[in-house]
This record gives sequence, C-alpha cells and structure tokens, in this order.
Amino acid sequence: MRPISLYNTLTRSVDPVVPLVPGVISLYTCGPTVYNFAHIGNLKTYLFQDLLKRTFLAGGYQVRHCMNITDVEDKIIRDSQADLSPDAGNPERFAAMKALTDRYTAFFLEDLAALGILPPTYTPKATEHIPDMIRMVQELESKGLAYSRDGSVYYRIAGLPQYGRLARLDRDGMKQGVSVDADDYERDSMQDFVLWKAAKPGEPWWDSPWGHGRPGWHIECSAMGISLLGERIDIHSGGVDLIFPHHENEIAQSEGCLGHPWVNSWVHGEFLLVNGEKMSKSLGNFYTLRDLQAKGYDPRAFRFTIQSNHYRKVLNFSFDGLKAAEQALKRIRLFRKRMEGEGLPGHGEWKASIDPLERVQTAREAFWTALGDDLNTPEALAALFTAITDLNAQDDRVALTRAERDAVLAFLIETDAVFACWPHEEVETDTAVAALIERRKAAKAARDWAEADKVRDRLKEMGIVLEDRKDGTVTWRKA
Ligand code: AMP
Ligand code: ZN
Repeated sequence: MRPISLYNTLTRSVDPVVPLVPGVISLYTCGPTVYNFAHIGNLKTYLFQDLLKRTFLAGGYQVRHCMNITDVEDKIIRDSQADLSPDAGNPERFAAMKALTDRYTAFFLEDLAALGILPPTYTPKATEHIPDMIRMVQELESKGLAYSRDGSVYYRIAGLPQYGRLARLDRDGMKQGVSVDADDYERDSMQDFVLWKAAKPGEPWWDSPWGHGRPGWHIECSAMGISLLGERIDIHSGGVDLIFPHHENEIAQSEGCLGHPWVNSWVHGEFLLVNGEKMSKSLGNFYTLRDLQAKGYDPRAFRFTIQSNHYRKVLNFSFDGLKAAEQALKRIRLFRKRMEGEGLPGHGEWKASIDPLERVQTAREAFWTALGDDLNTPEALAALFTAITDLNAQDDRVALTRAERDAVLAFLIETDAVFACWPHEEVETDTAVAALIERRKAAKAARDWAEADKVRDRLKEMGIVLEDRKDGTVTWRKA
C-alpha cells in the first residue's frame, strides 16, 4: 500500500492517512441537493473527491464510498410544492417532491458518468433513512443534547464541549439558548441548530415522536454515514463552505450520539470562481456541464481543468483555461497514440540519449510521490509532461522499441487510472462535433445566424471544417 497524506481541516496539517481497517478506506462525501442541475462549482468538488478516491484505489487500498442524495430539504420543498393546491394531501405532496428529485438525480448521475467519476459504493437517499434520523434525534434527546419546542427539535450546542473545534469557533461568543430554524447560517450567528422541523401547512411530512415533520439537513448526513459506513469513518469530505455549519453540526450530532470521535480526516476542497467572481445566475456566469457540452467542450477537458489545479486552491474558471486544457490533453492523447504505433526510423544518436525505461520509472516515482503528498496534481502532471517531452525527443532520434513503447503505455494507463482523461481522442471528437452540428442545424432552423456562425467558429477552433452538401446534410473533416 502506497502512503498517502492529506490536509486535515481538523488538525490544520497534512497528515498520513492510516485507515481504521488496514487497507480499506471508508469515505463519506456530501452529495447533491437534487432540485436543479449541478453547476460546475459543485462538479469541481465531486471531481476532487473522485481523484482522492482513485488515488487510494491506485495505491492498493479498497475504498468504501458513500455519497448521499439529499432529496428532502427546504429548497426542494419550495420548488416541488409551488404548483400544488393548498389542500393537496400528503401522498400528493410526496409524489411532487419525488418527481422533482428523481428528475435531477438522473441528470446528476449522467453528469458523473460524463466526467468519468466512479460510482460510489452507496448512494443513499435521505428519504430512505428517516427512521435512522428519528432514532438519532431521540438518542440526542435522551442524552440531554436536544430539546423540542413547538414540534421542532434543536441541538443544545452548549452541551458538547468540542462544539466548534472543526471550524475553530469562538465558544465564548456563543449565544446561549438561541435557536435557528434555517439549515444554513453564518458563523457569527452560532446557535442551537434544528434537527427535526415541524411541518408547516403545505409541506410534506413524516410521522414522528414530535408530530408531523421532516429532518433538518445536517442530521441526514450523520444518520446515513453511520448507518452505511459504521461508527467510525476515515475520511469525510465536501467543499470549504460545508465546514461551517454543516460539518461542525454533523460532528456534534454523531459524536453526541456515539460518545466517541467519529471521523479521522476532514478534507475540504476550495471553491470555483468564474472570471474571478462567484458564480451566479444574475451575473450570467453560471454554468452547468451541459452548458459546456453544448458549446462543444469535451467533459474530460473540464475534468482536466479542475485536476490541473490543486484542490485546496481557488480555481478561476475561464473558457481560455478550458481551451488550454484541451490543448494539454491533446498532447497526452497524441503521445499515447504515437506510443501505440510503431516508431519511425529516427535521426540517429546525435545527442546523449536517455534510457526510456529508466525515464519512465523516474516519472512514475515523481508522479505517485506528488499525489501521495496531499494530492499534488500540478506536480504529478509536471512529472508526466516532462517525461512526454523527453520521450518524444528520444523517439525522434532513435525509435523506442516495442517493449519500451509498451512500458510507456503501461505508465500512461496507470496515470489515467487517476486522471481518467487520456483515452483516444477520436471518440470525444466525434460526439462533440456531432452535438455541435446538431446545434448549428437548430440555430439555422430558428434563423439565428449569429448562433450558427458562433458554432462554426467553435468548430474551426477545434480544427474541424464543415462541408454543407446540396442535399442538406453536413459532413466534416479535420483541417
Ligand atoms: P450543495 O448541493 O450546495 O450542497 O453543494 C454540493 C457540493 O458542492 C458541496 O460539497 C459544496 O461544498 C460544493 N460547492 C458548492 N459551490 C461550489 C463552488 N462554487 N465551488 C466548489 N464547490 C462548490
Ligand atoms: Zn453532509
């Protein structure tokens, strides 16, 4: 097993990960709230978690991965119930909620597949674990860590000495006895948070010891994590915005119930910005993966953009950056193709030559050392790219033998097990071009000439030339 260290938000240092069960990592990643498409910021987080998981898998560990689907939550209720009549019954309310969440869960799983994100071992839905959540809230009540009021139940944060440790909160500034009903709030209003919410008129509900209601967001993850991964977990992860209050509250609930530490490593990824700004619909800089695909970008180029950046650094997304990622990927893919083919007669040994097998071995060591050091992807990729430069130059001079080419290919396959970005290029090109041709056709049919020209320009950038035939069909070729 290869040693792997990660930055742990709890200790604020890069620590070696020592799994609770030798050779097996239990990993919980907070999943999506399925009331809309995931945006590319969310996908940055899921991509870094996929890279984390793949690094352990490639290092010889097994990974038990749980990613929840939040399918009951305030925003889901807001969006799914809007069109129902005020006297709709509970079954009707549930059906409306399920229709919305099923739809966006399916889209979400499609996005994961397009990005090459490995399916988690478990993808529990919150609505399938309500009894686990109720049991936890009861346990907290019985330990004096929760109290009910008007059919809602709140966590008494003053009852847990370690509350605030993850987010490094100032406990002295804590407001005693004030409670908050919202799931998300700022750290300066650190308060008793809601575990179970009494149903308001027009909301779907479950029966509970406190009357009709539904779980708060934080209890969902604690209950699903414990029920599927057990009472201790190696790694729990999310974006930095989840440190407070979500993860702080998850710790309070789980450790309050269990009476012992719950998670060893808390691993958080930084945010994605677009052209230096927070993504928002009103700024017009809000993108989903589908938006990028509709513009003709290969989802793997987006994956590569994310993974070229260290996960703990803010990533400033731009289309120029995405294009640069496309070019970098092209270089690796062409190199792979070159190694798959036979070498051409070179120019002879006119310079000190390198031993390709040794060169691959040096790159391999540098690559895995970088990834094992808190997933240092920029350094791992630098090791790969310098090896490509050297091996290309060597192959120009003295063609690598078949055995040497196969050793290089083995290294490329090994590195792709983590990056999932360098299969052959044709497959991606074909699908992207076909999608763009369809889009251009639709734009022309709508007489949107500006859009049709934009698509043609985008194809040109990709090195694709379109040929409009007289019979209305369109063919393409590489320029
Ligand atoms: P949500 O559906 O809002 O709970 O977010 C799902 C995941 O995406 C969480 O792990 C968030 O921390 C993460 N996330 C939300 N916005 C961004 C962003 N702009 N950049 C990176 N990660 C994000
Ligand atoms: Zn969570």
